[in-house]
Amino acid sequence: MIVAIASGKGGTGKTTIAAALARTWDAPRIAVDMDVEAPNLHLLLSPTIEGEEEATLDVPVVVEPENCDGCGACSDICAFKAILVLRGKPAIFTELCHGCDGCLQVCLRGVLGRGKRDLGTVSWGRANAADRASSDLRMVSGRMRICENTCPPLIRHVRTRLDAMLRERQADVIIDAPPGTNCPALTALRDIDVLLLVTEPTPFGLHDLDLAVRAFQSDRVPAAVVINRAGLGDDELIRAYCRRGGLPVVAEIPYRRDLAERCARGEPLEAMGADLRERIAALAGSVRALAHRSVAA
Ligand code: SF4
Ligand code: SF4
Repeated sequence: MIVAIASGKGGTGKTTIAAALARTWDAPRIAVDMDVEAPNLHLLLSPTIEGEEEATLDVPVVVEPENCDGCGACSDICAFKAILVLRGKPAIFTELCHGCDGCLQVCLRGVLGRGKRDLGTVSWGRANAADRASSDLRMVSGRMRICENTCPPLIRHVRTRLDAMLRERQADVIIDAPPGTNCPALTALRDIDVLLLVTEPTPFGLHDLDLAVRAFQSDRVPAAVVINRAGLGDDELIRAYCRRGGLPVVAEIPYRRDLAERCARGEPLEAMGADLRERIAALAGSVRALAHRSVAA
């Protein structure tokens, strides 16, 4: 089962929920940080890193400039304006390239060859073996290179590593998706079984939850909502929205100053009292029920 935790905006507590689910999940699991622009799941799970690799993207480079006849086919096919033909010669803006290979396919004169652009790193490991509750917890995460501006290719590298880990050992997967309703989030939410949307009971929270529902909801993937910081604003605003859209609210995490302070210090949510432990356990049960619904459909 692959469950993704997403949100229409940053700062809703998505990573806190993902970490709590990952720590308490009662089966082998892999926690995946696909928020590659600002990965921080590792801060809450403290994995021992066992491997790391550089991730790169194939990009075009000019290798035989004298062969160019200025036809413009490479520029015409590029949806990202990453290659222009200026005074009859190709000029490549490597940072804009998404690595689709289109220009290399249409250039019939051998002008272009393949180069590499560094995207960042992918690392993987397992939770501290001293922590018995987390002994079946592995982790993989991506970290984007400073000044890199395109997330999806690195997210695809994270997914490739995840697939390799799943071939070695069967496990459930808990994805901490990038915040927002953008290409990185859509890339992270491919081929999932359950979608959890974390929101907060404020007008901004409702607005961005609605964006996320419109962007991500599909007939194939059951979705549910977690209200974080319940009691901060108008909880009924979110509940009514979910009722109208047929979205189950599967957990509410109360807003309390002491909880916020302990979360900010990196303390596990589920360790902050029996009530929260029960709420996270119930959330895990709801996720499993949604996954079964997904399989049955
Ligand atoms: S590989 Fe694709 S995105 Fe990159 S420059 Fe060529 S056509 Fe544009
Ligand atoms: S497709 Fe090839 S030959 Fe045509 S302009 Fe681009 S680089 Fe030059």
